[in-house]
Order: sequence, then C-alpha cells, then structure tokens
Amino acid sequence: MMRVYLDNAATTKIDDQVFEEMLPYFKEHYGNPSSIHSYGRETRSKIEKGRKKIAELLNCSPSELFFTSCGTEGNNTILRGCVKDLGVTDIISSSIEHHCVLHTLEAIEAEGQARIHYVKLNELGHFDLEDIEAKVKSINKAGGKALISLMHSNNEIGTMMSIKKVGKIAEANNALFHSDTVQTLGKFAIDLKEINIDFLTASAHKFHGPKGIGMIYINGDVKIKPFIHGGAQERNMRAGTENMYGIIGLAKAFELSCEKMQENREHILGLKSYMIEKLKKEVPGVSFNGDAEGKSNYIVLNVSFPPFSNKDMMLFNLDIMGVAASSGSACSSGSSIGSHVLKAINADPNRTSIRFSFSKYNTKEEIDFVIEKVKEIYAGELVG
Ligand code: PLP
Repeated sequence: MMRVYLDNAATTKIDDQVFEEMLPYFKEHYGNPSSIHSYGRETRSKIEKGRKKIAELLNCSPSELFFTSCGTEGNNTILRGCVKDLGVTDIISSSIEHHCVLHTLEAIEAEGQARIHYVKLNELGHFDLEDIEAKVKSINKAGGKALISLMHSNNEIGTMMSIKKVGKIAEANNALFHSDTVQTLGKFAIDLKEINIDFLTASAHKFHGPKGIGMIYINGDVKIKPFIHGGAQERNMRAGTENMYGIIGLAKAFELSCEKMQENREHILGLKSYMIEKLKKEVPGVSFNGDAEGKSNYIVLNVSFPPFSNKDMMLFNLDIMGVAASSGSACSSGSSIGSHVLKAINADPNRTSIRFSFSKYNTKEEIDFVIEKVKEIYAGELVG
C-alpha cells in the first residue's frame, strides 16, 4: 500500500547525508568532548567545526550559539533566563505560540515572576504590530522591562511574522526580543546582522536532522545564566555531556538546508500551490486556515473541510488509507482538547481542519494520491 507522509511540521525524515555524517561518532569517535586526551579532542573539534559553520550561515559569532536537547528546552531556557537574569517584568507574546512557550509563560505568571500580555491577532493569525508597540510603550511607561516573545511561523497554520519589523519595534523601545524559529530555521534565510533580535530557538528534527537536539542563539550583548546546572559544557551555559551525534547531525542538516534552500523552497511551494488549486477544484466548499496564499510558511497547509457526517473520523480515515497528516501540533494531537490556535483565530468548529505539511521528499504524485483519498472519504467510504 502506498504511504504518504505529510506531517513534516511534526518531524522530518533524517537526510541520508546527515545520518552518514553522524555514524562514525557512535562507534569510532566516541570520546567525551570534555576529555583532554586525543579521543576527546577529536569530538570536541568536530562539534566546534559544526558550531562555526552554523554561525557563518546565520552571520553571528560561534560564541552566541548553544546546543540544547530540543526546541522546548531552548524556549524554556530563554524565557526563564530573561525573567531571572535580565529583570524582565512583562512578556508580550501570543495565544498561538507552541505549548512549550505558552505553558512556560503560564508557569512564570502563576509563580508571580512576570506579567504576560497577549497581542491582538487577526483571523489569518497575523500579529497586530501596532498593538505590540503600544504594549511595549505602556510597559516602559509603567517602569517595567519588556520581552517580546513571538513565533516566526505558526506550526499549525503556517502564518508568518515579520521578524524584521518586530525587531525594529523592540529596538526602538528598548525591549528584548525572542522568536521561536523552530519552524523556520533551515527553511528561511536569517541574517543575524540584519535583524535586531536577542534570542532564537531551533530544533534539528524539523529540518531533516536527528531528534533530541536543538540550539539557541543568544546575542552576545545579553547574558543569561544556565537553565540546567552541572558541568561546564557549552561554556557553562548548558550542563550535561554533549549529545555529540545530535550536534554533528544538526550542523550537517542545517548546512544542507541552507545550501539547498532555494531549490527546496521552490519544490515545496510548488506542491503546496498545486494542492491548494486541486483542492479548490475537486473538493467543493474547501477553505484554508491562516494566510495560506499570503505570508505563510511554504511547508504548512491547514485545510478546512466543509462539515460532513463523520467529520471527526477524517484523520483516522486518512491514516488507514495511508496518509499521515495531523490535526494540529504533534504534542497535542493525542489530546481531546481542540487546537488553541484554531480557537484563537475563530475557526469554525463545525468544519474539520487538517494540517498537511510538506518536505523536499514529497512529490506531486503523492498530492494526487492524498486528494483521491479525500474524495473517497467524501464519497462515503468512511470507517467509524
Ligand atoms: N516550537 C515550535 C513552533 C514547534 O513547532 C515545536 C515542535 O513542534 C517546538 C517549539 C518544540 O520543539 P521540540 O520538539 O524540539 O521540543
């Protein structure tokens, strides 16, 4: 049976070249990078080469990059550090952030450590820039210290924020700025000398690297303390023996993603546009959540299907027909609570929303197959 994987915003398949790059570090070069003997020096040197390469590609200093276990840890480190070490009293964020940001903010607020302000957003999921600016100004006026923490691209609906414009607001108003770039690093070019930003977060498994490894950028002008305490790894910023195969894989995956960014983007955007057009033609009443044909991440297409009798079984039916997609973020798709993102943009709860997300490995034939299956579901070949 044909199987089609269209859940690349949840995770991606590791690239063969990334896998090959990692392999020798499991069995041949296994020294602890903190050891001073030749085994340790070998792995230390490989890790630092990777860090240097990533820094070149992001146009920052290697000393501004720190490896973490995942995007979740990265976001926790930054948000907690800003409150604890940088005197942040107020955080401006949004109700459509990933749960690893949202739940951290809720905990920070519940502990009484900072106030959280949620920016206004429109029905496409775009943040209201004037509202961000007004909020920073009013925090400044009250004598507080603001952090703006807003995601670059939403993982469920793909809507993109202008990181440059928000960076300018932060700069003009002396606010710190963090962006969760987990869904965009490796897919969109980011030149850190061109944007005013203090913190970024990345996760390798979103760009054909391994799972369990992430990275944060911390602008050299700001200093936060570690989130995890222990040894002196990551220049005292992230204790624990390095996940060196992970770091090597992340660096290689990032390098490959940047090298082929334009080519991959054209291919994937082609698939997304093809699917939009075909769905419009072949599934009456279909629409899209977010700004699908505007300022949107090219890997994400959130489709809103018109109501039908067995709407809750659509994802299940697609799965048994060989199509892997999702109803939202992977972390919450197992829960019965509806998507907080769709709720925030006032999506119609009577319609069925499915997130299809693409990668360089997908093909037009796969899109044709998926649309055939959707049509079969509508024709009544349903289970449940
Ligand atoms: N931020 C966003 C926008 C994400 O989509 C995800 C994962 O889906 C994360 C953070 C968490 O990353 P990780 O799975 O590496 O913890």
